[in-house]
Amino acid sequence: MKCEDGYTRGDPWVVPVRKYSFWGWLLMSSGISHPPNQVNIECDKCGFVFETISERKELLKYL
Ligand SMILES: [Zn+2]
Repeated sequence: MKCEDGYTRGDPWVVPVRKYSFWGWLLMSSGISHPPNQVNIECDKCGFVFETISERKELLKYL
């Protein structure tokens, strides 16, 4: 799978983007670590989403 820039997973442009709920964001901004609601593995340049992670045990890796 490639994005329109020709990047694949493993390229430095392909990064995990953490999505927080309002409360999760609030906890994070108070310095309390909280797993994101969802993590998208996406291209930082074009925003192509390679994978969407929503399983809680996987999300805990992105604290
Ligand atoms: Zn791209």
